[in-house]
Amino acid sequence: MTVLLKIQQLRDELRQHNYNYYILDNATISDYEFDIKLKELQALEEAHPEFFDANSPTQRVGGEITKNFKTTVHDFRMYSLDNSYSKEDLLDWETRIKKMVDGEVQYTCELKYDGASMNLTYENGKLLRAVTRGDGVQGDEVTANVKTIKTVPLQLKGDYPERFDIRGEIILPIEGFLKMNEERIANDEEPYRNPRNTASGSLKLQDSAEVAKRPLECLLYSIKGNNLNIQSQFEGLEKARAWGFKVPKEAKLVNSIDEVLEYIEYWDKHRHDLPYEIDGVVVKVNSFYQQDELGFTAKAPRWAMAYKFKAEQVSTRLNEITYQVGRTGAITPVANLEPVQLAGTIVKRASLHNADQIEKLDIREGDEVFVEKGGEIIPKIIAVDFTKRPENSQPTQYISHCPECHTELQRIEGEAKHYCPNYNGCPPQVVGRIQHYISRKAMDIDGLGGETVALLVKEGLISNYSDLYELTVEQVIPLERMAEKSAENLINGIEASKQIPFERVLFALGIRYVGETVAKKLARHYKSIDALMFASTLDLVTVDEIGERIAESVVEFFSSEENRTIIERLKAFGVQLEISAEKLANQTDKLKGLSIVVSGVFESISRNELKKLIEDNGGKVSSSISSKTSYLVAGDKMGPSKRVKAEDLSVPILTEQEFLEILK
Ligand code: AMP
Ligand code: ZN
Repeated sequence: MTVLLKIQQLRDELRQHNYNYYILDNATISDYEFDIKLKELQALEEAHPEFFDANSPTQRVGGEITKNFKTTVHDFRMYSLDNSYSKEDLLDWETRIKKMVDGEVQYTCELKYDGASMNLTYENGKLLRAVTRGDGVQGDEVTANVKTIKTVPLQLKGDYPERFDIRGEIILPIEGFLKMNEERIANDEEPYRNPRNTASGSLKLQDSAEVAKRPLECLLYSIKGNNLNIQSQFEGLEKARAWGFKVPKEAKLVNSIDEVLEYIEYWDKHRHDLPYEIDGVVVKVNSFYQQDELGFTAKAPRWAMAYKFKAEQVSTRLNEITYQVGRTGAITPVANLEPVQLAGTIVKRASLHNADQIEKLDIREGDEVFVEKGGEIIPKIIAVDFTKRPENSQPTQYISHCPECHTELQRIEGEAKHYCPNYNGCPPQVVGRIQHYISRKAMDIDGLGGETVALLVKEGLISNYSDLYELTVEQVIPLERMAEKSAENLINGIEASKQIPFERVLFALGIRYVGETVAKKLARHYKSIDALMFASTLDLVTVDEIGERIAESVVEFFSSEENRTIIERLKAFGVQLEISAEKLANQTDKLKGLSIVVSGVFESISRNELKKLIEDNGGKVSSSISSKTSYLVAGDKMGPSKRVKAEDLSVPILTEQEFLEILK
């Protein structure tokens, strides 16, 4: 078999498995087998860049960076929907329709998925581009990000039209959303408010590899195009499903407005049985012929109507306000409620956010409060029922001292939250910081979990992350649920973390506001902890994308004697506190200040390697050509429009060889 045939066969096979898994919910091979095949395909594609295909299943993992999303005009305007909130509204709508069209009217009822709308254009069965709704006339092109969403087919099946647009909603299923938040809370990051905003925010991330990690889905509901040979909304849904799109089976074709009302009633009750959030139902006149007769208002089609569910609300008693201390010392007030059934779950707690929020709503212990679960997973208190306030009620006194270590709290100007400043003595901060240090994205210490860290601190075996490196097997074995083997694994895991590169160590230190990306930037710029330690605020803010807030936090971290001692110890134990010599040798400032666009397929080096080269040499990779672009590095199969644009703007075009010459 030729290589190309083999590649094509693997692509088809993987596509089918993706379809079985994500669309049909019916996997026929294990994740492991899938991974093996995917890796095989990746290897072949890497060895044969001439067979590159932007729609190969390997392209799902992302990697493309987009700095500025290109504004793109929709071929067919994306209208909004009119809203209704009652049976009467819907009956009025039916009356208006009946005046304008003859004959019986059938309706397609669909769920109103709560996410971000998306227009996908397909040509010859391949995804050409993905554009957000924007203002309805034009939106942002986010193709690289949307490609990573597994329910978006990159290659269609069956008898599809040559070119068409299909619209859908990018959503984040609840389970995936909760998982993402669990991870954020574990990292002491503010949890995301609701799946909808998280979904739409994801589409605008610059790094598509980040998007690929999020369990987003795309649910389709409408096809647009010329000469499609589709007569009705419901037929369109069925066809789209056959071509490989995810079209929820809940959509239903009905014969009267009474049946529409039944559908609404059913889903108002059962909405919480769905794996994703909906905020209502969308009703559409089924026949396209009748739709044409009805036409559009300035804003929305006359043939469709959204029915919005009411936000669910209950009242319950606020028993107690407690306070949580996070890894960075941030205090979060929590409302402990009399358990109550709301939106399909039992609610016991609600976030109160901060002191201002409590004051604004005048929330007090013992109050009867209204709790709402709108678009948000975490319920919130929206008001107090003052008619039920107990007579002896007292205004809430926000705590002045840390509930864990009794240190006086501080409030940084311009920030909503209070902080416990007892950085090295406050137990949740001490434990939280070590837990952060060992976490997957930081030092990734195998064999050591968050609970064990808490135990080690409690037993007095460690009090900061540098103590980890002095632990012995003998010390660890007596701990609860430890055996000799697991103790050895733990110690080996700690030992292995000495190989973790500097940029991740810097992230692991848990300096406030120094996340993964900032850590990378600082590591690249300063190259060693010694240089960073002596940097002033003024110096720090000269680094690309480092603002005053981050700069001050870094300076404050290193101004602590205790932190400096810990760093010295880490250094003595052999933790990587500078960029390795090998890496350093590959880093220069040769491309400093240059903004470079890379396009096409290259011979001696992969596109990602090329981008890394640019960054390692101080340059900036940008995704689209503008007058600020310094060079376009052009490989094979570069799109003609890029070349034209570069020529128009007099951006020099370099071949792969010419570019590599510059670096020599
Ligand atoms: P609104 O944003 O309230 O004007 O509602 C219109 C939006 O509802 C559309 O832009 C879609 O993104 C979204 N939507 C969700 N589900 C559907 C559906 N089944 N049919 C049409 N639009 C839908
Ligand atoms: Zn404290």
